[in-house]
Amino acid sequence: MKFNTKAIHAGQKPEETSGAVMPPVFHTSTYAQEAPNKHKGYDYARVGNPTRTALEKLIAGLENADGCACFSSGVGAIDAIMKTLKPGDHVISTNDLYGGSYRLFTKVFEPYGIEFSFVDMTDIGQVKSALKKSTKLIWIETPTNPLLRIIDIKAVSELAKESGAISIVDNTFASPYLQQPLELGADAVMHSTTKYLGGHSDAIGGAVATSNSELMEKIRFQVKTTGAVPGPMDCYLILRGIKTLHVRVERSVENTKKIVNFLSSHPDVDTLFYPGLESHPQHELAGRQMKDYGAMVSFSLKDNSIEAASAFMSRTKIFTLAESLGGVESLISHPASMTHGSIPKKVRESAGLKDSLIRLSVGIEDVSDLIEDLEQAF
Ligand SMILES: *Cc1c(COP(=O)(O)O)cnc(C)c1O
Repeated sequence: MKFNTKAIHAGQKPEETSGAVMPPVFHTSTYAQEAPNKHKGYDYARVGNPTRTALEKLIAGLENADGCACFSSGVGAIDAIMKTLKPGDHVISTNDLYGGSYRLFTKVFEPYGIEFSFVDMTDIGQVKSALKKSTKLIWIETPTNPLLRIIDIKAVSELAKESGAISIVDNTFASPYLQQPLELGADAVMHSTTKYLGGHSDAIGGAVATSNSELMEKIRFQVKTTGAVPGPMDCYLILRGIKTLHVRVERSVENTKKIVNFLSSHPDVDTLFYPGLESHPQHELAGRQMKDYGAMVSFSLKDNSIEAASAFMSRTKIFTLAESLGGVESLISHPASMTHGSIPKKVRESAGLKDSLIRLSVGIEDVSDLIEDLEQAF
């Protein structure tokens, strides 16, 4: 099956008792058993729920994975992954990553004895020199947030394999429509389904998909044991959203390219970050690794101050000032004070994240309205 067909049909079949083409929302905490441990595959809803199963099968299908486990949030999914490690284990992660992941790694797991090295993974040499005997996991986020750098999934995954570590890709920014990490050799994929998969900014969720059965078993153990599970209604909303993923992402990318074109010639724009630009340092890699260049774009202003960025963002009318991304509506945000506020200023600046940096998540509105909105905000 091709991707666009899978987005609608992967793992889905009409419900057995009624023929309903959409999965029912199974609001139940427990399931009747015929005899102790003799049941229809479900015993307690922390462990499993049929609406969640339908969503897990759909995401596994999109990522070409044998299995998927869904969580109540993206960070819940990352938390479960990290809990498969032990004190003394070492993790290599990109230094330009989602602020919530950085906070979870440094404020929760470092104190529990897991060691982290944050490196610029666009330079494979830096990943190599960070490797240790105790390296168990290489955490890849690409495109990176918010500077939209591109990490070579194939090269990093190969390096992980050679050194006995696993590689996991946070595929939230690209979505499975634009990027297929397992095909490139990664061991697992993680999603904040809150973003492109859900696509309508109406639910929070996370997912881990993999064909590594040993890892899947450890993740399922975390689902059952630490319990960051999504409710059935949220699973339904994400599943419903996924059915239009390909159409939404395609239109968002189309709009983004026109917006990038507009921004690239604007006199108040200092630096423009978009993998689709020929001047982008990993433009060629992005073209190879992704189906298209994505619908996220960041830019800094000639007037590099928080004040200038704030003033700009308070003037947009269609672009809503809000955290998050990947919905049908266009959003604007200020990484230095919002998503990346928990990263110390020094660390932020050394990674190239300027005070005036503005990030856009481009939605599927009419692009001429979006450009007009930005124009009047300058
Ligand atoms: C939002 C996000 C997360 C965290 O997901 P939540 O659903 O908000 O918990 C992780 N990684 C990336 C890249 C994100 O954008």
